[in-house]
Amino acid sequence: MSIFQNIFQTIHAHALPTACIVCGAFQDQQICVECIKLLANEQLSNYECCRQCASMLNHFELTDHRCCECAKNPPYFDETYCLDRYEGRLQKCLHQLKYQGRLFYASGLALAWNTLASANQNMDLRGYLLPVPLSQTKLCLRGFNQSWEIARKIDCGKFLQKNPHILMRHHHAHNQATETKANRQRMIKDAFFINPLYQKTLEGQTIVVFDDVMTSGATLNEIARILKDNGVSRVINWVLLRTLYPSVRSEA
Ligand SMILES: [Zn+2]
Ligand SMILES: [Zn+2]
Repeated sequence: MSIFQNIFQTIHAHALPTACIVCGAFQDQQICVECIKLLANEQLSNYECCRQCASMLNHFELTDHRCCECAKNPPYFDETYCLDRYEGRLQKCLHQLKYQGRLFYASGLALAWNTLASANQNMDLRGYLLPVPLSQTKLCLRGFNQSWEIARKIDCGKFLQKNPHILMRHHHAHNQATETKANRQRMIKDAFFINPLYQKTLEGQTIVVFDDVMTSGATLNEIARILKDNGVSRVINWVLLRTLYPSVRSEA
């Protein structure tokens, strides 16, 4: 870097500083170097997790790299990668995006993903990357789909096409967050459908589904079921945050 670039960057960082979305320190990135280090040390992917559903494994499950629940009742999706736990440092940032409408946080969360998760991903995947959709009603109320706002900024290699129009969702008046797991599973059944314009394009494809939060996995399982019913051969979930105690958190 030349001395002029150095001077320019220093002036830029002081004249137009950016607050780190995690700790609030002013500097020139959306997440500061210290917070990236902390996130790297704590991230869920440092632990042995089930390849299929990303729940943390017990010692007797380590040899199969798969949890007992997935062995007993295999979900429709094939793999799941989660960056961090819901209870970790990124939860507040996600809430700022989702409930306060601060879209700037989507860039910071995508930066966290690109810095910490991309190294663990296969960048040669071919197919489509689809965000978990909101219904049209909810999209109008919130004004944006948080999963898409993050997904559109993440690195996914050259061969995955990002598309927010393929997977659609019916509107459901109830709030999933207040329901029991069994009720959530009933409510989510048939909640999704494929945009008829894209039905034929899914045959034999690999699909990456991007979600901001995974709780019980009921939503992602139903999406994978619909995708496979439409000819998709492999479904991989990429998830920002995963709850460790599925029954008490929201996926909405
Ligand atoms: Zn920070
Ligand atoms: Zn599992």
